[in-house]
Amino acid sequence: MSRPHLFNTEALVLRSTELGEADRLLTLLTPAYGKLHATARGVRKATSKLGGHLDILTRASLTISHGQSLDTVSGAEALEPFMALKADLRALSKALYLAELADAFHPPESPNPQAYALFLETLRVLESSEDHDLALRCFEVQLLGLCGFQPHLSSCVQCDEPLQPGRHFLSPAAGGILCPACCPAYSDAAPISVHALKVLRYLASNPLATALRVNVKAGLHRELAALTGGFLRHVLERELRSTAFLRSVTQQAARLEEQQTSHR
Ligand SMILES: [Zn+2]
Repeated sequence: MSRPHLFNTEALVLRSTELGEADRLLTLLTPAYGKLHATARGVRKATSKLGGHLDILTRASLTISHGQSLDTVSGAEALEPFMALKADLRALSKALYLAELADAFHPPESPNPQAYALFLETLRVLESSEDHDLALRCFEVQLLGLCGFQPHLSSCVQCDEPLQPGRHFLSPAAGGILCPACCPAYSDAAPISVHALKVLRYLASNPLATALRVNVKAGLHRELAALTGGFLRHVLERELRSTAFLRSVTQQAARLEEQQTSHR
């Protein structure tokens, strides 16, 4: 969506780096404009009106001037500062990981309102619940899906045969589950337990609040983290360097925008 010269938007602050004497360069995630980079001038001065409203992982209502080279934040009001989350080092480290993923999966200016909503909802879960690991796995699986990289989990991704009882494998390079006959073709294929497969399917196909009701034991958590981690690494390492990734995400964003326009 093209931006007017001066516009209002809500945003989550993904990243914040010092710039010059008193400024900050912000990476912002917005529902309608996607990921934006903007400067906050003078924000590090004690007298700045913007101070405290633009901290990392804050949801804020912003007024932004759209410039030739860079946008500038001219007004900011924190809507959700996530103070409790930031006071809990364990939750904070996980939220920063989510922010990194959200940053990596959003090319600039490709809006993905559902991915924005997922990020916001997951931050709220991290702030209010103890079950961080399952929220993280759900975020990872659903973010992959919302950005066009949904792992194929219903049948063998290679031959499409329904899965039979027995050993199954997950291959990030193949894009999903493989049956024993197809698995030798992919060197990255790793065994996946029936429980892990069921949980991944459940996380991929249910809203976050529902998905978090599933009961997962510690050993299964470790398996799930390794499986989703392998998938994310594969997609990011391979695709971030290629224009195909940007094209795919941009097309996905355009489709979402089309769907939303037709629903209005
Ligand atoms: Zn197969």
